[in-house]
Amino acid sequence: MKQCVICGAVFAPYRPQAVVCGPLCRRERENRQLFNSPQRAARRVVPKERQCAVCSKPFLSVHAQKRTCSPRCSRERKKEATAQWALDNRDKHLAGKRRREKKRRTTRHVEVLALAAATRTRNRNAIREQARQSNYRRYWNNPAAYNAKQQRWNRERSVRKVLSQLNQLAEAINATAHRIQGNERTE
Ligand SMILES: [Zn+2]
Ligand SMILES: [Zn+2]
Repeated sequence: MKQCVICGAVFAPYRPQAVVCGPLCRRERENRQLFNSPQRAARRVVPKERQCAVCSKPFLSVHAQKRTCSPRCSRERKKEATAQWALDNRDKHLAGKRRREKKRRTTRHVEVLALAAATRTRNRNAIREQARQSNYRRYWNNPAAYNAKQQRWNRERSVRKVLSQLNQLAEAINATAHRIQGNERTE
């Protein structure tokens, strides 16, 4: 009888070299051997100590490109790099600045226009609503006034209609007169 090296159970070995009790413990033993294998140890990434490019503090990192110890120092370094680029590429820097400013102004302009339009609509709607309410109050208990107003509107509408008919008639007469004069001249 033998004792399993994984679970400690006593078992009857089916071959003399057996050290585990069954398939499950064999799998577990293989896993542990893999986990502690020299290949895995070689693959393991060891953090290297380096010096922060901004504050000179030593720090650990597994990334080869890492130059700064913290997000704060990273921002600082980026800021410095941007400033240096601006100094080295004066024209590009100014052009970009102008472009951004123009875009900002355009955006702002569009926003102002939209706001003004919204205000106008709101005002117009408010005025209409006010008029509606005031009309409502004025005529609600006063059918006579309402009828008088309707009649006035009808009168005004028929007057407008007659005037437009007269206009059309005048235009027709004018056109005919022109034609007759033209005919007389050519005869
Ligand atoms: Zn076992
Ligand atoms: Zn730092």
